Amino acid sequence: MSTKQLFDNTEIAFSLKSNSELNRAFLLFKMISYEPLVKVGKTLTNFAINANLPVDSVIRATVFDHFCGGVNEKDCLPVIDAMYEKGVSSVLDFSVEGKEVESFFDSAMQKTLEIIEFSQNKEAMPIAVFKPTGFGKPYLYEKKSEGQPFTADEQEQWNRIEERYDRVCKLAKEKDVELLIDAEESWMQQAVDDLVTNMMQKYNTEKPIVYNTLQMYRHDRMTFVKAQLEHAKANGYYLGYKIVRGAYMEKENERAIKKGYPTPICESKAATDENFNAAAKFILDHLDTISLFAGTHNEASSYLILDLMKEKGIAKNDNRVWFGQLYGMSDHISFNLAHLGYNVAKYVPFGPVKDVLPYLIRRAEENTSVAGQTGRELMLLTKEKTRRKS
Ligand SMILES: Cc1cc2nc3c(=O)[nH]c(=O)nc-3n(C[C@H](O)[C@H](O)[C@H](O)COP(=O)(O)OP(=O)(O)OC[C@H]3O[C@@H](n4cnc5c(N)ncnc54)[C@H](O)[C@@H]3O)c2cc1C
Repeated sequence: MSTKQLFDNTEIAFSLKSNSELNRAFLLFKMISYEPLVKVGKTLTNFAINANLPVDSVIRATVFDHFCGGVNEKDCLPVIDAMYEKGVSSVLDFSVEGKEVESFFDSAMQKTLEIIEFSQNKEAMPIAVFKPTGFGKPYLYEKKSEGQPFTADEQEQWNRIEERYDRVCKLAKEKDVELLIDAEESWMQQAVDDLVTNMMQKYNTEKPIVYNTLQMYRHDRMTFVKAQLEHAKANGYYLGYKIVRGAYMEKENERAIKKGYPTPICESKAATDENFNAAAKFILDHLDTISLFAGTHNEASSYLILDLMKEKGIAKNDNRVWFGQLYGMSDHISFNLAHLGYNVAKYVPFGPVKDVLPYLIRRAEENTSVAGQTGRELMLLTKEKTRRKS
């Protein structure tokens, strides 16, 4: 089989899906491929939630169960175990967004600590994750990134953010569980980068435990990662990077226009692709210091990484190279890669139905706007349905 057909086996890709789940997935992607429907659906859902209408069961039976593992960690266990039987690991992702109170930040930290504890004894969950805005208010990250002074109260809140990062990173090191830190909007990222660099310097002394995220739709990220490598080498610590293309492109471009500064986003999709591939290559060239978690649904980039690994003699199961996809998307990449012996982990989002809605809406919008992606999912689902019939 040619290398470029490795992801085409739909029997392996959908081995965990029953016929009815396959049909549900097909219907779902068909619906979200139709942009006006997603727009109306978003408005109606927001209205229904705000009006306290009982829409949980509808959301649950459709988009939620496809893209999420459950409403809590325990709920996700059957999914985690089933995927692991096929060689695919899970990264439990507490996907509640947009809650800006201290009690929520503390409980999000607590959840991350619990997941790290749990991961220590669960082979199927070797990696944990959290989101910067899960641990603190966006405007504080923004202020810090811009170098603006804090009030006394803000400084106290910021100190608590730092403590939360330190507690989870410390436990991750103690329990030997890798910890990914997501990236969000660019105007908050400088503060996150500084914080995470400190964490890496403190806890990645023997190997990469703490991973930052590089959004390669930003044209400045290659320069950044090169400087980080110099810093790590000079100060004797390891780096871990999840590389992604980036999920907030429209928001980034709109803000740049509104505020009149040059957009941080690459000039075209092709430029982002090139930048992503360059980062993957750079990391694989420096695997002695940097580990890679490639978070992508892009086949060409995944094939490129496979080719580079082969060329450099990197073992398929080398713990310094991981592939990651989101639950409910690109199973053809995840399950075929795992079948071949590569390290693969899927983000498994969980949380109360209403609270993970922003995450779900982002997934629906992404599948609407990423022209090729939905078409590909539909094509693969059709192929598998036909195969099963024959
Ligand atoms: C495991 C995992 C973890 C993730 N974690 C994060 C995270 O922490 N932070 C985050 O922001 N995202 C995250 N994402 C989402 C990711 O950034 C992408 O939005 C998503 O994966 C789609 O990109 P792709 O590489 O799969 O491939 P593709 O579908 O090939 O690429 C689509 C992406 O290309 C870029 N793009 C599209 N059009 C243009 C254009 N005209 N100009 C420039 N660039 C363009 C955009 O980034 C778009 O999302 C994660 C994804 C995965 C799979």
